Amino acid sequence: MSRAVWVAGNWKMNGTESSASDLARQVRETLPERPVRVALCPPSVHLAAVREAIAGSGILLGAQDCAAEENGAYTGEVSAAQLVDMGCECVIVGHSERRRHQKEDDALLVRKLARAFAHRLVPLYCVGETLEERRAGATDAAVTKQLDQGLSPALGHGLPFVIAYEPVWAIGTGVVATIPQAEEVHGVVRRWLAKRLGALGDAIPVLYGGSVNRDNAGGLLASPQIDGALVGGASLSSEEFLAIVRAAGEKKGGEAS
Ligand code: PEP
Repeated sequence: MSRAVWVAGNWKMNGTESSASDLARQVRETLPERPVRVALCPPSVHLAAVREAIAGSGILLGAQDCAAEENGAYTGEVSAAQLVDMGCECVIVGHSERRRHQKEDDALLVRKLARAFAHRLVPLYCVGETLEERRAGATDAAVTKQLDQGLSPALGHGLPFVIAYEPVWAIGTGVVATIPQAEEVHGVVRRWLAKRLGALGDAIPVLYGGSVNRDNAGGLLASPQIDGALVGGASLSSEEFLAIVRAAGEKKGGEAS
């Protein structure tokens, strides 16, 4: 089955309103015509500026997180409904930086995913092992636990979602997983999807994230197991990001929507 190919840029906590707007405009102006779903995930305070810059381009607006609650007295939080109101179509959930710094656990992520699904946001759910887990031979167990406990309870409605395998030791470090390392864990995720969702699991894209750049994207994205990339640092340069989009566009079997 051909799965949608995604390249999502996670801008994290970087930029100003005007730099966010400029970057989005540069991506828009030079976006190659490729059958790739391209998403930009700016800081939430820059969503409106980016929405304006990409209007009508087909680029998806994404958020980096959403609240686990629907609304109410949760100072500083942004709800899934508010993200939709801003024009978002997708949201990153369970990024390892939030698991680590904000102490987000799987039980909380189930609730965030439920809010995202309820508002028809496509969640980009992140899983990945720490260096200690890898060294202890516990990679598969760590990823499977994040799928079993953080994702599985939120499923059952047939709505689309995306999984991003992001080894924690590869995020923002310049150390990228080797293609066999990435393929091995993508295989774990794919088998989990088949077991949990049967044939429907085959339609779920599994992206790789962790120090993807213009030099390593071609090799990673050529793998039939890797359906695209979640890109952090390299998404802050339109040239780097678009080179990754071009590499994704070379994949066989991708589809436009
Ligand atoms: C990320 O934060 O999701 C990520 C993959 O970051 P980087 O590309 O900088 O490693």
